[in-house]
Amino acid sequence: MDAELLRQYLEFYQDLGIKTLYRQTALPVEIPMDLTPLRQVEQAFPPANAIPVDLPPLAPTGDTLLKIIEDIGDCHRCRLSAARNKIVFGVGNPQSPLVFVGEGPGADEDAQGIPFVGRAGQLLTQMIEGTAKKEGIELLRKDIYIANVVKCRPPENRTPEPDEMEICGQFLHRQLLAIRPKVICALGGTAARALTGHKEGVTKMRGKWFQWQEIPVMVTYHPSYLLRPYNQDAKREAWEDLKKVLHFVYD
Ligand code: URA
Repeated sequence: MDAELLRQYLEFYQDLGIKTLYRQTALPVEIPMDLTPLRQVEQAFPPANAIPVDLPPLAPTGDTLLKIIEDIGDCHRCRLSAARNKIVFGVGNPQSPLVFVGEGPGADEDAQGIPFVGRAGQLLTQMIEGTAKKEGIELLRKDIYIANVVKCRPPENRTPEPDEMEICGQFLHRQLLAIRPKVICALGGTAARALTGHKEGVTKMRGKWFQWQEIPVMVTYHPSYLLRPYNQDAKREAWEDLKKVLHFVYD
């Protein structure tokens, strides 16, 4: 592997949030103790969380959403596959200049295999179509693209674990590269952290522009958060964020 290819690999894994890479062959070191008992114990009791991560090479040139779906296949790369019904890949216009990224499927999405179809999804649709209409922009939900950081429903709708996001993130990464939108809108803290690498809470990040692979990323609240009755201020702020996004993309 030449230096340029190696640099590209390192950038790719950095974008996925992977901070540590291990050499395939360890340097020879002298271990002054007998490891046989340890090996026997590890063989008998393999680490519970050890998930063999099969990361693909860089996004293939000419990558397409179809190719990515094929590569995902009947995915069992992480523990989220155990309880899922359907893989929720993404939906919408594959040439959209605007992509929304959520956290992960909930119960309705898991049942239908389509992102954002439950209550939060209905609010998202309302927000996109309502704000566009008010701002004089002709836009329906089907015109944009929607995906999630993880493609299988986390049990009890818990936040995805870092390793689950890392494993599934490779496919979001390829989706975004295949679509190459003009803007990405991160819905909620998980998507914001996955795309920007920033660790602040969504309240600090919302309304601001970040970047993913040179594509502007706007962070805003997750629609599930906006469904809570006492979040009127947040709702107003989310509408402001969305207006910024729509004008940036469609003016
Ligand atoms: N919440 C998400 O983050 N994604 C969905 O698809 C549905 C709810």
